[in-house]
Amino acid sequence: IDTLPKPAKTRVITVSNQKGGVGKTTSTVNLAAGLARNGARVLVIDLDPQGNASTALGVEHRAETASVYDVVVGESAIADVLQKSPEFDQLFCVPSTIHLAGAEIELVSLVAREQRLRTALETFLQVTEAEDRRFDYVFIDCPPSLGLLTINAFVAAQEVLIPIQCEYYALEGLSQLLRNIQLIEKHLNPVLTVSTILLTMYDGRTNLSQQVAADVREHFPKEVLTTMIPRSVRISEAPGYGQTVISYDTNSPGSVSYLEAAAELAHRGAPN
Ligand code: ADP
Ligand code: MG
Repeated sequence: IDTLPKPAKTRVITVSNQKGGVGKTTSTVNLAAGLARNGARVLVIDLDPQGNASTALGVEHRAETASVYDVVVGESAIADVLQKSPEFDQLFCVPSTIHLAGAEIELVSLVAREQRLRTALETFLQVTEAEDRRFDYVFIDCPPSLGLLTINAFVAAQEVLIPIQCEYYALEGLSQLLRNIQLIEKHLNPVLTVSTILLTMYDGRTNLSQQVAADVREHFPKEVLTTMIPRSVRISEAPGYGQTVISYDTNSPGSVSYLEAAAELAHRGAPN
């Protein structure tokens, strides 16, 4: 276990890409676990009605469980719905339940509908800081759409991390995502920056993977992490056991790559 540098203030990172199946959830939980294993205090907010991050982190998320829905649509505090990960002492999760599926519509009629998560998170971070339980990282796992839930995630964060699958059409739709992020930056959250791009499901044996990785690096030389996440069966098996790959199979290439990516994220620090 190497101790990673701690950020001067909490880094709130939204993991987003409007494509499904590109590794958003997998990257969220495994980067979070990689950081938590090496001494950081980390919160994952599951903002996808599918609840895949909650499943992968092994936390309760049956319909009746207090969840992110109660924070974003209701009036609950994050502290009231938070659960500790069974894997790592320093890792916590705000679960998502099926109720969140209705939130996109329910949010429309609420006051300050774009700021609901930010307001709740600011309060939570102030309280934890005052009580000497400061979080180093907050990751927000987004659904594969650009609706009000994703907007709430963008408004609550300082950074966006975009996972890109090393596959066909990887860059397709990316310019739309970047335009949307610019709109948020202009109108709702001036500090928002795309700080990090993570190449996922890389298969070095195929020309296609190599080509996609080279293209993405050419377009985003500053943002792309050196570490790439390989395609690995162990990574896809882990959620079935309610585990991250970091504890499911610590020495597997997938786990090692997420630990390296987490270390890179920590060493690069927050963008200015
Ligand atoms: P998203 O959250 O963007 O929809 P997921 O993280 O859920 O994407 O990943 C989609 C699917 O691909 C899941 O079944 C996941 O287990 C699998 N997967 C993700 N990353 C890898 C990887 N590096 N190697 C193999 N399978 C992966
Ligand atoms: Mg997902």
